[in-house]
Amino acid sequence: MAGMLYLVPTPIGNLGDISARCRQTLEEADFIAAEDTRVSLKLLNHLGIKKSLVSYYEHNKASKGNVIVDRILAGETCALVSDAGSPAISDPGEDLVKLCAEAGITVCAIPGPCAVITALSISGQSTGRFCFEGFLSTAKKSRREHLDALKNEHRTMVFYEAPHKLLSTLQDMASVFGPERPISLCRELTKLHEEVVRTTLGQAVDKYTENPPKGEFVLVVAGAPEEAAPPASEEDAAAHVAALIKAGLSRKDAIKQTARELNLPKNTVYDAALTLQQE
Ligand code: SAM
Repeated sequence: MAGMLYLVPTPIGNLGDISARCRQTLEEADFIAAEDTRVSLKLLNHLGIKKSLVSYYEHNKASKGNVIVDRILAGETCALVSDAGSPAISDPGEDLVKLCAEAGITVCAIPGPCAVITALSISGQSTGRFCFEGFLSTAKKSRREHLDALKNEHRTMVFYEAPHKLLSTLQDMASVFGPERPISLCRELTKLHEEVVRTTLGQAVDKYTENPPKGEFVLVVAGAPEEAAPPASEEDAAAHVAALIKAGLSRKDAIKQTARELNLPKNTVYDAALTLQQE
């Protein structure tokens, strides 16, 4: 019988965030696939777990992925961990999940630490609708194209960013989204020096020009403001009144209700209804 692939999230800074279920899954797996075996070994030592580790990272994923799939198909259970956070979110785990799904292997994701969700929830920005944009390209041209495509995005946008690229990313964002656009810069989450800077893109550029950024960042950028609906025209008002009269309202009540619903002065609606009547 085939084994299974477990996606095991690991702490993004605070070792206390490993859950009982994650610990048990790591203990019970036949082997662990890790993005960086040295990083994962530290965690396993901390947890007192001794387990066979195989490396699975960006530059060996094409060959290693099939080896892992074959082992699972032969009956072994694999726990996949990334350097920190939830595997398969902006890391090579994404490809292993695809391979396993194609091979008919059951994949079980254990919920746990994830930088995008931790940052979004602490950001103070709207969380009802958001989009995760991952890492922007290092190439200036494609970075600008990516941001240009988000110019009219109304949802809150979440980006991962490395400190050495932060300033040029903020400069590009300020020129595409405008310097007044709110941003929350979430740094070193769950760590000793956790910090959330809630500011604007223009002010963030000034801040990090003066003090070069350090640590890991998630950027949570407010979406483009919704444009106010254009005011209703006289034709809209007349049509609204006519529809309400047809629905059984008196002329007086239809005018009153139209003024309220279309946010127009009663006189304007009255005049519009009169013109309609004369036509
Ligand atoms: N799969 C992981 C997840 O979603 O939680 C993220 C992997 S991605 C390769 C690493 C990026 O996550 C970092 O460059 C940074 O943008 C963000 N990140 C990870 N840990 C963080 C932390 N403690 N504070 C802020 N950002 C963090």
